[in-house]
Amino acid sequence: MNKKSYNPFEVAQKQFDRAADLLELNEATRELLRNPLREYHFSIPIHMDDGSMKVFRGFRVQHNDARGPGKGGVRFHPQETIDTVRALSLWMTWKCAVVDIPLGGSKGGVICDPHNLSQLEQEQICRGWVRQVAKNVGPLSDVPAPDVMTSAQHMLWMLDEYEVIHGSKNPGFITGKPVGMGGSLGRKEATGYGTIITVREALKELNINPANTVASFQGFGNVSQFAIQLYQQMGGKITCVSCWDQEDQISYSYKKESGIDLDELMSISDPYGGIDKAKAQELGYELLPGEAWLEQNVDILVPAAMENQITSENASSISDKVKVIAEGANGPTTPEADEIIFERGIFLIPDLLANAGGVTCSYFEQVQSNLNYYWEKDEVLGKLDVKMTSAFISVSDFAKANNLNMRDATYMIAVNRVAQACSDRGWV
Ligand code: NAD
Repeated sequence: MNKKSYNPFEVAQKQFDRAADLLELNEATRELLRNPLREYHFSIPIHMDDGSMKVFRGFRVQHNDARGPGKGGVRFHPQETIDTVRALSLWMTWKCAVVDIPLGGSKGGVICDPHNLSQLEQEQICRGWVRQVAKNVGPLSDVPAPDVMTSAQHMLWMLDEYEVIHGSKNPGFITGKPVGMGGSLGRKEATGYGTIITVREALKELNINPANTVASFQGFGNVSQFAIQLYQQMGGKITCVSCWDQEDQISYSYKKESGIDLDELMSISDPYGGIDKAKAQELGYELLPGEAWLEQNVDILVPAAMENQITSENASSISDKVKVIAEGANGPTTPEADEIIFERGIFLIPDLLANAGGVTCSYFEQVQSNLNYYWEKDEVLGKLDVKMTSAFISVSDFAKANNLNMRDATYMIAVNRVAQACSDRGWV
């Protein structure tokens, strides 16, 4: 696929249309669910450190809140587009539905590159974003969270601005806050751990011992680092990871046949998940092109970076040895690549399920914040395991009973739950 022509919203709608066909949804329900309910587009003027003024574009898209308040991250990215935010808002709706938590789907973003912004400039963007949507979001209507290039600190600035505007403490307004400031223990681990919980369940079905498997990861950020941690605890070996190189503006893969050392790689990474290539080479890592992570002779592939990474153009370079692909990222595989993957019999755990650990734990954070009562880490991670395992089993059972692949089964369960909620409310 030509990466320039990739439109994630078109992909998300295509995936929805397929589920709508399989479920034989009526026209009104299709019309309602294939587009967001509401969108906010706005400008955020900022006083830059050099004394100049700069205006950034921000968005909040609320796709569907029939099952509960909207939930979804705010992404800071120089290539952010409204269609990316729309797509991500649809995926949030289905993700909350598939793990059966009482939330809807939203997503936000700002077109900016935090690499080139000071802390003060980033704080102003966070506060400016909240000022624009303060009346249209909140603990009972729409709850933001971190996403690519936004952190706990960004969430705290956003919460502070929201509380100033509303004149009250509302820790349930936002999730992904720092622990001790309303954040949940286990949140930073949740997405990556959730991905590996689904891998564990898939391997169980395939009768494979995780300790006998080798994996390759795309991305070395929040999702990837904690997925690597749990996978290594299960005895798995990782021979390759890739990440974006800010200096060269391309991605590289880092390979070590004897297995990567997570702590060692983390010690030479920046806060955005970029690995220092000179130091990595000194430590004996082979520097390979960005796409090499996909071509490794491994059992498991975990795309955990960006959307549109496994396409009809590169899916054929996936090794015959690969048995499982777990989509840690949102939308990493195009529908055309899906066909190739399913034809080859690879067990693909779709993003809506594989990375739902993040929103599941965000929901736990919201519950704790609203109660102002915080759980121990073991309790959070135990509840996460139960939710992720039961969601995996429901999808897998449904797939087997109806002779479907995991993507179709996930979509059918999720879309059906949301369509039912809309119908029960009398919307369609
Ligand atoms: P992050 O910003 O912490 O890390 C992103 C990583 O991807 C970095 O290592 C970066 O260098 C790498 N990267 C970026 N572009 C790349 C490219 N072209 N090739 C190779 N590597 C590249 O982000 P994250 O929080 O780990 O999120 C990763 C993905 O997971 C995103 O798709 C995000 O939407 C999704 N996701 C995240 C969460 C969460 O809780 N963090 C939850 C659900 C889904």
